[in-house]
Amino acid sequence: MSSIHRKVKFRAFLTALSCIVLLHSFTTPAEAYERNGIKWPFPTQIISAYTDVTGNYSTALNQAITNFNTSTQVHLSRHDGAPWVAQVQNYGAVDWEGMSKTNTGNGVYTVTWARSKVNTAYIPASTAVSRIKILWLHELCHVWGLGHTTNPRTVMYWNVATPYANGISSLTSDEINGINSIY
Ligand SMILES: [Zn+2]
Repeated sequence: MSSIHRKVKFRAFLTALSCIVLLHSFTTPAEAYERNGIKWPFPTQIISAYTDVTGNYSTALNQAITNFNTSTQVHLSRHDGAPWVAQVQNYGAVDWEGMSKTNTGNGVYTVTWARSKVNTAYIPASTAVSRIKILWLHELCHVWGLGHTTNPRTVMYWNVATPYANGISSLTSDEINGINSIY
């Protein structure tokens, strides 16, 4: 992981009123995604799900994959033997419900392999698919190259329980713009 780059876009509105021209310079940050400095060499990737990815975990992963494929410029498919692995295990009370690890191959932080994990100690098999889905989305976004936001209505808020409680269970425009800015 390298330094975090904050990307904020500003919108400016120009309003003309008869002979008077008023310049309203809005400084509302319309986008707030963070990039974590890594990226895959290609926007098309394969993810391999371990045999522990069953039931709701598997359904949620498939829905997350579809969400990327239909909303962003990246494409993900699920096959065995890929350098990107999805895992579901009881990792114990380790203070994280999901985690992603990436290996970067050179000075420009190109991802060579990745592992995205769900911890059943906090996310049991009976967890709603939509709740597991937002966790997969969050972890997969890290591997695509996004860091955390401070907006509790985005998937990339540091704790997905909060955006989920706010009704978020799919990629928001912030993640979509963030990923599309990289690929
Ligand atoms: Zn995270």
